[in-house]
Amino acid sequence: MLSNKVEEALNAQVNAEMWSAYFYLSMSCHFASEGLAGVANWYNVQSQEEQAHALKLIKYLVSRNSRVNLSSIADVPTKWNSIKDALNATLAHEQRVTGMINNLYAVAEEEKDYATREMLNGFISEQVEEEDTVRGLIDKINLIGEDGTGIYQFDKELAARVYTTPAFCK
Ligand code: MG
Repeated sequence: MLSNKVEEALNAQVNAEMWSAYFYLSMSCHFASEGLAGVANWYNVQSQEEQAHALKLIKYLVSRNSRVNLSSIADVPTKWNSIKDALNATLAHEQRVTGMINNLYAVAEEEKDYATREMLNGFISEQVEEEDTVRGLIDKINLIGEDGTGIYQFDKELAARVYTTPAFCK
């Protein structure tokens, strides 16, 4: 059984991961309506990954004989001015999530909860990857600028992303 502090912190993270899923789904819908099907696909896959993160935490809570409390998901933005604008918001969001995961890790350490700390290792590595991927996309979109052909190619590239359950969530 988990301590109340760890249980509460993990439940808060479930909500944060679901908010992330909702945030990226909103971006996916926005870009679909802008005619950028590839960018919409990329954000849809991103949203699915966030749901997998939430489910990983839920499964862990259950396995530790703890309570899962699904609370309401706060509203998300619905509009972005450009791909660059959305990607910058994505990077800022992922940096916030990295901070949350680090705080969660610190709580597990304080509580001497080594199993939770071990489970969180996957999330720690995932955040490094998330930030790096988004930075790479920002670099590309900065090179492209307003070039229509470039945006067409970028959209096509993002259309190729296929969802697979992250290894640490299986
Ligand atoms: Mg996540």
